[in-house]
Amino acid sequence: MRATTSTWRDTKERDGDRCAACGARVGLTHQHRRAVGMGGSKTPPSIEDSLALCGDCNGRCESDLQKYALVFGWKVRRWVKDPSRVPAFYPHLWGWARLTPAGAALPIHAAEAAAMMRDVYGEEWNAWCKEVGVQTPERR
Ligand SMILES: [Zn+2]
Repeated sequence: MRATTSTWRDTKERDGDRCAACGARVGLTHQHRRAVGMGGSKTPPSIEDSLALCGDCNGRCESDLQKYALVFGWKVRRWVKDPSRVPAFYPHLWGWARLTPAGAALPIHAAEAAAMMRDVYGEEWNAWCKEVGVQTPERR
């Protein structure tokens, strides 16, 4: 199911009217972070399940950048019931944010983001980082 008009408007506002991945200001599309399986979803995606991405980045999240998108929280595994547990990285801001159901993107430290990711995905997240050549903060 598609995002409601108000969720999409609020998502764009939260993300500064820019693509969360590349910072582009044009051609923005709704990214449903939780991959939707066959048959789609019964309810429209919530704001913490949404990102503004340009058409290029949205397409690449489904193709060559799929693993990057998981590493950076632009995509969320379907089985994750609460997408607010998965933070998102905004490269153009060089920072991580926790996406809340109230529609905020709260800046968090990279170590906190890594802890949240490991809490959800365990060692698999480290493995994805390694695969795409992304350095992860050390455990504390
Ligand atoms: Zn983009």
